[in-house]
Amino acid sequence: MEFPKIVTTPPGPRAQEIIEREKRVISSGLGVKLFPLVPERGYGALVEDVDGNVFIDFLAGAAAASTGYSHPELVKEVQEQVKKIQHSMIGYTYSKRAIEVAEILAEKAPISEPRILFGMSGSDALDLTMMAARFSTRKPWIVAFIGAYHGQTYGATSIAAFQSSQKMGLSPLIPNVVWVPYPNPYKNPWGINGYDEPEELTNRFLDYLESYIFAHVLPPDETAVLIAEPIQGDAGIVVPPENFFAELKKLLEEYGILLAMDEVQTGIGRTGKWFATEWFGVEPDLIAFGKGVASGMGLSGVIGRRELLENLTSGSALLTPAANPVVSAAAYATLRVIKRENLLENALRVGRFIKKRLSEMKEEYEVIGDVRGKGLMIGAEIVNPDGRPDPELTGKICWRAFELGLILPSYGMFGNVIRITPPLVITEELAEKGLEIMERALKDALAGKVTGRTITWH
Ligand code: PMP
Repeated sequence: MEFPKIVTTPPGPRAQEIIEREKRVISSGLGVKLFPLVPERGYGALVEDVDGNVFIDFLAGAAAASTGYSHPELVKEVQEQVKKIQHSMIGYTYSKRAIEVAEILAEKAPISEPRILFGMSGSDALDLTMMAARFSTRKPWIVAFIGAYHGQTYGATSIAAFQSSQKMGLSPLIPNVVWVPYPNPYKNPWGINGYDEPEELTNRFLDYLESYIFAHVLPPDETAVLIAEPIQGDAGIVVPPENFFAELKKLLEEYGILLAMDEVQTGIGRTGKWFATEWFGVEPDLIAFGKGVASGMGLSGVIGRRELLENLTSGSALLTPAANPVVSAAAYATLRVIKRENLLENALRVGRFIKKRLSEMKEEYEVIGDVRGKGLMIGAEIVNPDGRPDPELTGKICWRAFELGLILPSYGMFGNVIRITPPLVITEELAEKGLEIMERALKDALAGKVTGRTITWH
């Protein structure tokens, strides 16, 4: 098949008509529309829009379509299941399909003999995480990171610190949450170059947590949990020092504080391991998952140490459609495809290739300030000559890429990180083509040839 294929400059007439219709019925609260894209169908890592344009997809519906689109195995499992029984409430009866998914996740997770809760989206998985942590410790305080995106239920909004605008007009939020800076090696409040001195960055953070936060802001003995993304996603794909979480865990244990990992974006193969936590050699107490586990079809949950989840009050985490048979079938197919097609290895191999090409581009173009990531979760930070974020140029690069047939989103706390999170099935050939388009878009943007720009969070 030909890819990418632009038959009419996007958004074409059909896309424009649908976008107009949306404005009349759907609330603006629904999202930040990065592109005027209306997908009609997809195959592998390609998306075809309603006008017949075919795009290479570096977005994967927000890092969720892990097996890509219309994977035959997923289609078959889901079709067969929906024909048999489409709903059976796991809160009231037993579901073979949900149990088989839980068994696989329990085997893969870096927590021994865990127990599992199910939800529908990453956001409610974070609510469940908070509930489990508070219930099991009976302590009120929660520590989270600046830049973290945890979702948009009331609970998740209350712990997130991605964009303050997402909390506007919603208070009072859940109290007793304190945020600390993430140990971003590229730029951090301590002015440490964390690539040259990773251990120094870890130490400085731990000292800050103890000497400032625990000593002056919240009583550590009354703190239930610290919640962290192992690699910050929406904040701009930020990878902390390798020893960070192991050292952090040691400190938290001294105070009896749990460590919960938000693996909604990083989990289920995204970084080339089942869970990104594995990169950091640490066993957390709780792990939230979502997005990619059912290739984006609406399954999430929490994996936790047995003692923490075993004695939750019956019915305190009850969500009617959670892990229904159809999404469980999708998750089962997803997990099987990841294993059978060696998608962890593919993520590592194609990810390495992408990072290498981006690093070469970084040498050539001063505007690329940093390239980072693991597996197929890669970020390229776009900066102006004095090193400050350049969201304007970033938006232009992404817009031009879109016109040329590449879905290339920008994210980051300051809207200046090009984010590459394609389906895990992407081939090197497709990735290479995508990067060629990105380079051309970058050249055009630098030459002042691009008039539009994509929307970004910032
Ligand atoms: N946590 C993280 C780390 C995420 O990236 C996201 C989604 N971007 C969420 C939670 C929320 O997930 P959802 O949108 O499925 O509710």
